[in-house]
Amino acid sequence: MGYQDKCELNQSKWTLEQFKEWQEICLHCGACVAHGPIIPHNNEELPPDEWQSPERKCPSLEYYKLKTFSGQGRLLLTAAVFRDRTEITDDLTNIMFTCNSCGICNEICPPYLPMHVTLACREEINEKGLPLPEPLPELFENMENKHNLFGLEKRAKSVPDLPEKGTDLYFTGCYTSYLLPEIGKVNAELLRLGGLDVSHFGTEESCCGEVARQAGNRKLLRRLPGTRSVRWKLQGQRE
Ligand code: SF4
Ligand code: SF4
Repeated sequence: MGYQDKCELNQSKWTLEQFKEWQEICLHCGACVAHGPIIPHNNEELPPDEWQSPERKCPSLEYYKLKTFSGQGRLLLTAAVFRDRTEITDDLTNIMFTCNSCGICNEICPPYLPMHVTLACREEINEKGLPLPEPLPELFENMENKHNLFGLEKRAKSVPDLPEKGTDLYFTGCYTSYLLPEIGKVNAELLRLGGLDVSHFGTEESCCGEVARQAGNRKLLRRLPGTRSVRWKLQGQRE
């Protein structure tokens, strides 16, 4: 797989097996964990200052202060998992799920995409049916059975009063639809004031599945009606 292909990698397009074949051990430049890159780019001089990575680069690295909890640390552990050189232990699972998927390491390192690697390792953990950190099992069950994160039967009463058809879709999401309806009302008003032709799925809106995607459960993500309905809407099939 070429550099450009990797830069354009979209998580929805690869399979886990493909990703395992593509995944490589990184260059160890240090940009996602330290000052880096520290490797002379032309065998003569250190890279210029403007090539240095941002001072603050990985929330979990800042918190744990161990390289294991950085993009590179997770990338190297995942490589060992995919090459059958290490077992997935509870500690390893914990390391993978303490990444908050912020994506900074992907910005720093497009050739190796450490966050995508972490998501692939989470998918492997799901595929193997290994224990997941709490409360993920409960959230997955809620999404599957009730189509919302909280397992609630009814959404908040004041889902924005918007038409079902319109050029622009306001997808409120679980928190706003079920717990924070006031935010939905304010957002809808702001969007209208901004001149958008705002529509809403109303009671048909279902969980978008972002938690499943980030937790490596893409099988569940694909089964959720919310994912499909947004796609239909964006393709204009409900107009
Ligand atoms: S993952 Fe990328 S940025 Fe981080 S050390 Fe490896 S090559 Fe450098
Ligand atoms: S995506 Fe994860 S590993 Fe990468 S910078 Fe954010 S917290 Fe760190």
